[in-house]
Amino acid sequence: MSRSAHPAGPRHADVYPEGHYTAPAADLNVLDEKVWARTVRRNSEGVVTVGGIEVSRLAEEFGTPAYFLDESDFRARCRAWAGAFGPDADVFYAGKAFLSRAVVRWLKEEGLNLDVCSGGELTTALDAGMPAERIAFHGNNKSAEEIERAVRVGVGRIVLDSFQEIVRVAHIAQSLGKRQRVQIRVTVGVEAHTHEFIATAHEDQKFGIALADGQAAEAVRRALRLDGIELIGIHSHIGSQIFDMAGFEVSARRVVQLLAEVRDEHGVELPEIDLGGGLGIAYTSEDDPREPHEIAKALHEIVSRECEAAGLATPRISVEPGRAIVGPTAFTLYEVGTIKPLEGLRTYVSVDGGMSDNIRTALYDAEYSVALVSRTSDAEPMLVRVVGKHCESGDIVVRDAFLPADLAPGDLIAVPATGAYCRSMASNYNHALRPPVVAVNDGQARVIVRRETEEDLLRLDVG
Ligand SMILES: *Cc1c(COP(=O)(O)O)cnc(C)c1O
Repeated sequence: MSRSAHPAGPRHADVYPEGHYTAPAADLNVLDEKVWARTVRRNSEGVVTVGGIEVSRLAEEFGTPAYFLDESDFRARCRAWAGAFGPDADVFYAGKAFLSRAVVRWLKEEGLNLDVCSGGELTTALDAGMPAERIAFHGNNKSAEEIERAVRVGVGRIVLDSFQEIVRVAHIAQSLGKRQRVQIRVTVGVEAHTHEFIATAHEDQKFGIALADGQAAEAVRRALRLDGIELIGIHSHIGSQIFDMAGFEVSARRVVQLLAEVRDEHGVELPEIDLGGGLGIAYTSEDDPREPHEIAKALHEIVSRECEAAGLATPRISVEPGRAIVGPTAFTLYEVGTIKPLEGLRTYVSVDGGMSDNIRTALYDAEYSVALVSRTSDAEPMLVRVVGKHCESGDIVVRDAFLPADLAPGDLIAVPATGAYCRSMASNYNHALRPPVVAVNDGQARVIVRRETEEDLLRLDVG
């Protein structure tokens, strides 16, 4: 990553304060296609369009703030992942990134499977017609009710996350006269973050059962003894927003080692491994994500090489991208409300949303980009911080970015790559009304999750 403390060039080093940003793009009107959904363009009037519809029209019809999701981009990404991994692997979309009934239908139509991690996500998936056998159930503390429902409806797999859960799922399945297919989630001692991974022990986390100290081998031993469950494989998920395949390499090697140990001890070759999700996307022009076909090729190669070395047949691989499918497909549209230049520092641009529709900047120090989308401008770049309207000084949407200096209240600005972990993590802080998600496709826009209303808020308030 080439971000520096100072923007490049002496001119900027003098003009702008220290911060985590690079020099402004040569032309702020140009949209970097890397961070925008596939059909986003600027038309001849200078207005940005998605699916052929102008953002100004979208704002008029659906209001701001709102998320606009490019359905054709979502479907294309599903097809790219399914195509890259081919018929001998399974792609599970991680529903926690963003889930709605429309999304479930798209996944179903495009041949993907679905990860859920709560009763609520399971309900949404089933309600929209996802076949239960294409659903995987995750979570480190599934309730007895959630387990019972998952087993009853016949989910394809439950991913076991603790010693208690091995017994719990086995007992519940047995009492229902069923044998539930399960995987065991292990922690492989790899922690991956964006551009680096740490291959030291990273067992200090709530998820999974450690490979270290033979914990995972013991979990397998117990699972194989229980009638209510059928152990079909091992699961590992090492992090998120990962660009470097080296972490997956270590993870795959360690999982395959466990498969070899299991074969040696029990004479059983587990048929599946799941390498999780976590593949990175471009939030800013600095990020260079890999294409699904590169990822598929790298993972297939690693797994088959390790299996060959261990004398194992290559297991069926599954992966669980969430962000990499939905993240780039949406942007959040805001209206500029107030503009506050702070001499020698930066200009604060307040929008009509904030941490209630995008908590990632406050929560993870996430980086985003932003563009003026309702018109073009030839004004000089101005260093801005885009902030929300909440009662919290950490209410930052985009920490450091450049917008044209003639920005004015009423202008529409958009933050790209907000499809994942924005609406799904949205809150009602300050009794904000959570924004709608509008799917745009080929000149048509339709609400798939409607905007919350004050009646919605009052309905829950039964005191
Ligand atoms: C969150 C999660 C994913 C998806 O992660 P992304 O970064 O969105 O790809 C996949 N698998 C598991 C088990 C997860 O917890």
